[in-house]
Amino acid sequence: MKQKALFLDRDGVINESAPAGDYIVSRNQFRLRPEIIPLIRFAHATGYLIVVVTNQRGVSLGLMSEKDLDDVHAYMRELLRAEDADVDAVYSCMHGYEDTCECRKPKAGMLLQAARDLDIDISESVMVGDRQTDIDAGKAAGCKATILWK
Ligand SMILES: [Mg+2]
Ligand SMILES: [Zn+2]
Repeated sequence: MKQKALFLDRDGVINESAPAGDYIVSRNQFRLRPEIIPLIRFAHATGYLIVVVTNQRGVSLGLMSEKDLDDVHAYMRELLRAEDADVDAVYSCMHGYEDTCECRKPKAGMLLQAARDLDIDISESVMVGDRQTDIDAGKAAGCKATILWK
């Protein structure tokens, strides 16, 4: 039987966003937003996989390496695990606008890739994000619901 997923945007949902035009390039800049913890716990308890889908253009801009991003995500998961709210997977788009990739939200590529990797039924899944591009990605993928989380 296929799984259902709660897709979560990262910046502005799991952690405080960097100031406009800036990027979280190291764990020192990563601040958890505790409001998300109960939602992650509830979704997990009701059978949802928790999948982070995040645009991280700072890699393509050369402001951080893929390794830096991995370290930020390792730290994110340490913090979440300590709250009993770990996630199941993290997908990052590290491309820039000019790459015209299929993964950068508002495109659905990361959600579709996760669905293939983890056997997710997107029509039973939910996308949560703080921007319209997250909502558009959720709709483009075919999510059952999208939630603008501010
Ligand atoms: Mg965001
Ligand atoms: Zn991409």
